[in-house]
This record gives sequence, structure tokens and C-alpha cells, in this order.
Amino acid sequence: MTKLTKTQKSRKRKKPDSRSSPSWKKANVGVSSSNGSEPFPDFSGPSPDECRAVRDDLLALHGFPKEFIKYRNQRSLSPIGHEDDDDDDDISGTDSCKESVLDGLISTILSQNTTEVNSHKAFASLKSSFPTWESVLAADAKLVEDTIRCGGLAPTKTSCIKGILSSLFQKKGNLCLEYLRELSIEEIKRELSCFRGIGPKTVACVLMFHLQRDDFPVDTHVFQIAKTLRWVPTAADVKKTYLHLNRRIPDELKFDLNCLIYTHGKVCRECSGKGSDKPKKEHCDKLCPLLRQSSNAI
Ligand SMILES: [Zn+2]
Repeated sequence: MTKLTKTQKSRKRKKPDSRSSPSWKKANVGVSSSNGSEPFPDFSGPSPDECRAVRDDLLALHGFPKEFIKYRNQRSLSPIGHEDDDDDDDISGTDSCKESVLDGLISTILSQNTTEVNSHKAFASLKSSFPTWESVLAADAKLVEDTIRCGGLAPTKTSCIKGILSSLFQKKGNLCLEYLRELSIEEIKRELSCFRGIGPKTVACVLMFHLQRDDFPVDTHVFQIAKTLRWVPTAADVKKTYLHLNRRIPDELKFDLNCLIYTHGKVCRECSGKGSDKPKKEHCDKLCPLLRQSSNAI
């Protein structure tokens, strides 16, 4: 396919509507919503219109979050059958758009329980100390820990990463996860869940960011805001929230809505629940479109 230049990768901020429809998408229609996991069949929200309204409000408030633009560009511009090696020198020049799936998985693991800055530092440090995943697998765990220490939980993350590399090598005879690109969402979930230490949130993040699939990860921020918006029953836990929202949120809105809600959750203390003990509500009501929406709801 054609090389993507910087100018072609235009920032699509105002119309977040990635409608690229690769062939696997058509083949997978309904897979994520027809696997029998319906935790709240009688709970009808959110409607597609509500999802769209929140997307529009948050987009107007924050703009599309800069840190996710590279992933967004990949989704709207990535043509089918363009996952091979010739990507290396075209779109990676400025922001290394096209990471391998294994890079994506490991960077997702490194992002747990830390800030974005520190997780990026840890990943960069790991990559610069160990040029290949084979060398990480072969290295002494302590040496790997040292390189990722700035991202926190170094021993746990090292053991998780080395465990994944080791079982991947046993299973496939190499350290490559590119084969996942050819699988359906449900197949990918099954494959990734086999690795020890990989939970549903990590799987969902890899699906959404690194495999360009329509999935809606639920982290603390998304969970809190889903509660604030009454998009799930009050008794819902994270797992059920994930299942419910993935059924209710239209596929074409999932990526943008997820990035925006996550970003909003980080900056809006009030509606993400963290500031509930502080008398800031009036102030936030004016600024936060989500609090307005949730008070209109009932
Ligand atoms: Zn808010």
C-alpha cells in the first residue's frame, strides 16, 4: 500500500468517526455481543444517542486526547492487509505508530499502576537495554527489573513479562504475536487470556489500541464514570460493566468514547467519584457536561 506521510496523517479531531471497515470486521460482526454474556439484560442504557452525546460533549470539552491520536490514525488509515514489515519506515518516523502486537502487550503491562510518563520511560528503557524480546527472555530477571523500575512493581511486571515470553516461545516457537491480527475478537481473547497475569482489561486494551478492534476496556476511570452516568446498575462490578458496555455502546463509538471518558476521568475529580467528599460540586456542575447529563437522567 501507499506510504503514509506526515501530512496524510491529518489530525482528525472534530469528526471522530472511524468508519474503516476491514474485512475481518464484517466477518466478526456480532461476535463480541453474542457470546451469551449479558449481565444486565433488562438494563437498557446507555442508548446509542446517549453514547454519542457524551462523546460529543467530552470532545468539545477536551478535544481528542493527544496521547491517543497515533492509535486513532492507525484505525482510520490502516488499510486491510497492511500489517507487514514495510510499515517500519513509513509511519514510525514520528511517533512509532505501528508497534508490534507483542510490543503493545508488554507496554500495556508496563502501564499498570503507574503514570503514563513513567510507563513510557520504563518501556523505552527496557527496549534500549534489550534490543529483542529474545534477549529479555534470556536475561536474568534482576537485570530486567532494573530497567523497568521507574514504572513501579518491577518484580511483578518482570515475572509477568518473562512468563509471557516463555510460554509464547513454548507455544509458537518464536516471540511474535502478529498472528493475532488474523483472529476474531473472541479468539484473541482466548489466546491472550491463556497467558498468566493477563486480565480482561489488558486484553481489551490490546484489542483496542494494538489490534484496532472495537472493544471497550473498563479501568477505574471508565468504571467510575459509567456509574456516574448510570450506564450500569449501581451494583455492577468492573467485569459486568465491561460486558454490559461492550454490548450497549455502538462499535463505531467505542474507541473515541473510551479515550475521551478515560481522559475525562483523569482530570475531572468530581464526576469520577474521587472528589465526592469535597464541596466542589457546584463548580463542577458548570464545567462538567457529564454531571449535567446524569442529573438530567433522573
Ligand atoms: Zn466530570
